[in-house]
Amino acid sequence: MNKPPVARAPVSEWLSQLPSVDKILSHKRSEDWVTEYGRDEVLRVTRSTLSLVRQECLENKRLTQPDLDALLEQIAQKLKARATPNLRRVINLTGTVLHTNLGRAVMPSEVIEAMASAAAEPCALEYDLGEGKRGDRDELVEELLCELTGAEAATVVNNNAAAVFLLLNALSNRKETIVSRGELIEIGGAFRIPDIMKRAGAKLVEVGTTNRTHPKDFAEAINAKTALLMKVHTSNYVVQGFTAEVPEPELARIAHERQLPFVVDLGSGTLLDLSRYGLPSEPTPRQAIEAGADLVTFSCDKLLGGPQAGILVGRRDLIQRIKKNPLKRVLRVGKITLAGLEAVLRLYRNPDTLPQRLAVLQLLTRAEGEMQAQAERLRPQLQAALTLCGLSLKTQSVKSQIGSGSLPVERLPSVALAIEAQSKVHEKNVVRLERLLRASATAVIGRLSEKTLLLDLRCLTLDKEKVLVEHMLAALGRLEAAR
Ligand SMILES: *Cc1c(COP(=O)(O)O)cnc(C)c1O
Repeated sequence: MNKPPVARAPVSEWLSQLPSVDKILSHKRSEDWVTEYGRDEVLRVTRSTLSLVRQECLENKRLTQPDLDALLEQIAQKLKARATPNLRRVINLTGTVLHTNLGRAVMPSEVIEAMASAAAEPCALEYDLGEGKRGDRDELVEELLCELTGAEAATVVNNNAAAVFLLLNALSNRKETIVSRGELIEIGGAFRIPDIMKRAGAKLVEVGTTNRTHPKDFAEAINAKTALLMKVHTSNYVVQGFTAEVPEPELARIAHERQLPFVVDLGSGTLLDLSRYGLPSEPTPRQAIEAGADLVTFSCDKLLGGPQAGILVGRRDLIQRIKKNPLKRVLRVGKITLAGLEAVLRLYRNPDTLPQRLAVLQLLTRAEGEMQAQAERLRPQLQAALTLCGLSLKTQSVKSQIGSGSLPVERLPSVALAIEAQSKVHEKNVVRLERLLRASATAVIGRLSEKTLLLDLRCLTLDKEKVLVEHMLAALGRLEAAR
């Protein structure tokens, strides 16, 4: 439908009455802005706002004449928005604990303190304090990693994708790596085993079929150009039904008979068997090494619960070759990562206190009753504001997931606040609320399921409850006002 024509003054008149940059800068609101944001920034934003308004006038996109107060307000909003960090805080109510798009593992206070201190002060990153000379940054965590995995040596790079890439380039450049067809995985964000292989210079030799691979498939594929036998943990899917895979000890035996290394990409590296905490089991680097793997790679920000990094552990001679590769320098981690990694690994020395101290494990092991109680606490605080917007609220049992490809089919029983429209006319409000929550200063991210907004409480730590209520009430207030 066309809008009815609006009677108004000619655009040229509006343009000529637009306040000047000087007029705005000499306004008393500008004084505060200059103190807070600096003169250059205020000038930049004033100019760009005026130019935008001028453009709108010329293109007939305005129905009202721009006045000084409105312009000042527009500039104030823009200054404020530009001063807000782009990397925004989020309350993760998606139900996915290790959400790659929301930064994966949240970290314990010991880890955060170690990282902050490494950022703030000089530290002996590559400096042997005993000898007073240059040291090796990997040594900060190597002993811990060997202790926790049973490996002889270890090295750290930027992430697990980098670990796999470096391993392949160092050991299989222009040579063949044999992998089962059932394990040619793609992980979110463009990590595909065949592509990584190609870029690393390794030639992929696929054996077996999607659902079944046998020992003889590997044995028969080995030739003079073979460099490695590789197993990739199928992190984000399972092959079920008529399946066969070659167990690790068998693969190790086939490789070792021909003096070849057997390597495993574990993906999520949990250092302990999680079944001791009532969670589903996920293979550990120690198990892979005991099964005969010569090298194992895994992530630090998945189940391990630390900062983004990738770890390679295994035979000393192979780790030495990998560290001599120039790409190791390209992919190395910084002091902040190493400080965080060391601190998180130390927590694993005491498995009994881990569920209280490791933030990720704390979230994964939260009791359903605790989340239920949380829902009952939150509901009365939100009920009235929701009702005003024609929305209803109930507590619903849901299933959370671990995320980041860990334990893809396992779900953890969890509790959510379920927000629905009280009648058909209010259905749009569910979608609007979801959007308003995402736009909050601390963005609140839930999950729309059909016509219901689910706010999974698994990752809502008690200290975040108050902030959540504040943001929800503010969003509902805006929703109500917009009616
Ligand atoms: C997650 C994953 C990767 C990639 O690890 P990043 O730390 O995200 O680089 C590689 N392989 C497997 C099997 C994975 O699960």
